[in-house]
Amino acid sequence: MTELMNKSDLSGTYDAARAYELDRAHVFHSWSAQAEITPMVVTRAEGSHVWDANGTRYLDFSSQLVFTNLGHQHPRIVAAIQEQAAHLCTIAPAVANGARSEAARLIASHTPGDLDHVFFTNGGADANEHAVRMARLHTGRHKVLTTYRSYHGGTHLAVNMTGDPRRWASDHGSTGTVHFFGPFLYRSAFHATTEAEECQRALEHLEQVVALEGPATVAAIVLEAIPGTAGIMVPPPGYLAGVREICDRHGIVLIADEVMSGFGRAGRWFAVEHGAITPDLITFAKGVNSGYVPLGGVAISDEIYSTFAHRTYPGGLTYSGHPLACAAAVATICTMEDEDVVGRAERLGEDVLGPGLRALAEKHERIGEVRGTGAFWAIELVSDRTTREPLAPYGGSSPEMGAIVKGCQERGMLPFVNYNRIHVVPPLTTTDDEAREGLAILDAALDATA
Ligand code: PLP
Repeated sequence: MTELMNKSDLSGTYDAARAYELDRAHVFHSWSAQAEITPMVVTRAEGSHVWDANGTRYLDFSSQLVFTNLGHQHPRIVAAIQEQAAHLCTIAPAVANGARSEAARLIASHTPGDLDHVFFTNGGADANEHAVRMARLHTGRHKVLTTYRSYHGGTHLAVNMTGDPRRWASDHGSTGTVHFFGPFLYRSAFHATTEAEECQRALEHLEQVVALEGPATVAAIVLEAIPGTAGIMVPPPGYLAGVREICDRHGIVLIADEVMSGFGRAGRWFAVEHGAITPDLITFAKGVNSGYVPLGGVAISDEIYSTFAHRTYPGGLTYSGHPLACAAAVATICTMEDEDVVGRAERLGEDVLGPGLRALAEKHERIGEVRGTGAFWAIELVSDRTTREPLAPYGGSSPEMGAIVKGCQERGMLPFVNYNRIHVVPPLTTTDDEAREGLAILDAALDATA
């Protein structure tokens, strides 16, 4: 470590040991026991790879937190941010600005139906907070129904709406949130044995929850079109259309949280396209600009927009539609259009990831189920295929899961892990060969820990 170093020099030559030391002294990490973590120091990243301080190269099968959809250091996004920074780094949300206007236009051109108006936020949690506020003001109702096995963000209402264990310690109640079961045949809450049965029973259950909560009190149903960190449970055919129908019948706003599933991740611009529905609001973040600068937002239907046409929307954020973030979004979306990145994600799932993971499931007894679509997959690991006993408890970890993850890392691959699942969520631009390499590493890590 050199004390003589120019402290503002954060270039590639920055001392890795100093980065680690300062991190441990001063950086307070998310979702972690502070004294028990040993964060990897990343010094460089490009495409589907990152390099640690020792120069070891890793294939990034996690897209970090499932956001580097176009991979690391994409030259077009980097250039767009640099160009924007050179002429206008920042400007308040109340003014019009080219980067913000173009980003909104491009987003609106890909959202389904008439979701043509965009409220920008800093990320996914605040997008969900604002979507619910809009729904409450639009309907004059207060309750929000959300699914168990979901994640909606780490802020007050968003964590309260979350249905997975990350809510447990931070659930302060009193936000008007009621949880219901979404469809998940592998661990069916309804004792269903087929997808069709699961779909029908999940919809009947939701109908009952609405009835018992009082339809006139329910402002919104919020769901991930394909739940992401909670397990990548692709809903059965007809489920999303069924929820849309329940919302229509009761005047409930349907909010699709596409923070993780949106912008090509699921092999469509938005995952709701798999169910052929148009929600009233879509929340997005992550893939909108590959996470190069924090950005999220709410895409708003004409009807909800009209509520605020002559009535002030009582909400805002200092950095709403930040020009650097919006310039990154413009470059990301234009690249996705020009290079058919969404089609690429679909083919990656159909040709490589889906077949590859299913082949691993044939070989490894511990893979209980393979789920996913596009570049959005998870394997669920169990200690016993018959009882489906998870390899780590819900909300916890286990030495077995730890060993598999370590095995992947030691072989040069970074997986995304949650409880008893390994999520295979590489950048959408990952080549077939890179994807095969990652699957081979997963195979070897499973072999080594069998
Ligand atoms: N919604 C979903 C579906 C997510 O996956 C996430 C983050 O992983 C969020 C919301 C929260 O987004 P952020 O961390 O940007 O606030």
